[in-house]
Amino acid sequence: MNIATVKSHIRDVPDFPKPGIVFRDITPLLAHAGSFRWTIERLREQVSAHRPDGIVAIESRGFIFGAALAAALELPLQLVRKPGKLPYRKIGVTYELEYGADAIEAHEDAFLAGSRYAIVDDLIATGGTAAATASLIRSRQGDIACCAFVIELDFLHGRDKLAGYPVESLLHYDSE
Ligand code: AMP
Repeated sequence: MNIATVKSHIRDVPDFPKPGIVFRDITPLLAHAGSFRWTIERLREQVSAHRPDGIVAIESRGFIFGAALAAALELPLQLVRKPGKLPYRKIGVTYELEYGADAIEAHEDAFLAGSRYAIVDDLIATGGTAAATASLIRSRQGDIACCAFVIELDFLHGRDKLAGYPVESLLHYDSE
C-alpha cells in the first residue's frame, strides 16, 4: 500500500453539498480494506508521537477514524457532536462560518484538566471546526496534544487557525 493508491480511493464529488464545493468522499477509502488499514496505521504513528492521553473525534466522519485510532492506541475516546445529539449535561461553543455560525457540543465530563487530547477529523478545510473543538477542550483546562486529519485542503490554510498546536495530515490537496 502507498499514499498514491490510498489517495486514488478518495472520490471527488463536484458541487456537493452546494455549488462550487468539491466534496472529498471517503467512502471508497473505507470500502478498500487495505487503504483504511493503512490510514489508521499512519494516523497511529503520527498521533502516538504526540503522546496523547485521549482521542477526541468530531462528528460525523471523524468518528470513523477517531474510533479506530482510539482502539488501536488503547486510549479513551470522547465525542464532539452537532447540537442536540448528546444526552447528558453538555458544554458547547459556537463558531463563525463563511456565512453564519455553527456550534458543537461535548458532555461536561468529557475533558479532564491537564489531560492531553488528540483531535481527529476526516478533513480540515477552514479549520473552524477543529479550532472550536480545541477551545472546548481548553475551556475545561485540557491540553491539545495534536490535531490529526486524513485530508488537508492546503489552499484554505485551515492550520493557521490551529497555530500553536501540532497539526498532522496524510493526504494533501493544493486546489479545489
Ligand atoms: P472546517 O471547519 O471548514 O475545517 O470544515 C471541516 C469539516 O467539514 C469536517 O468535518 C469535514 O468533514 C467537512 N468538510 C469541509 N469541507 C469538506 C469537503 N470539501 N469535503 C468533505 N468534507 C468537508
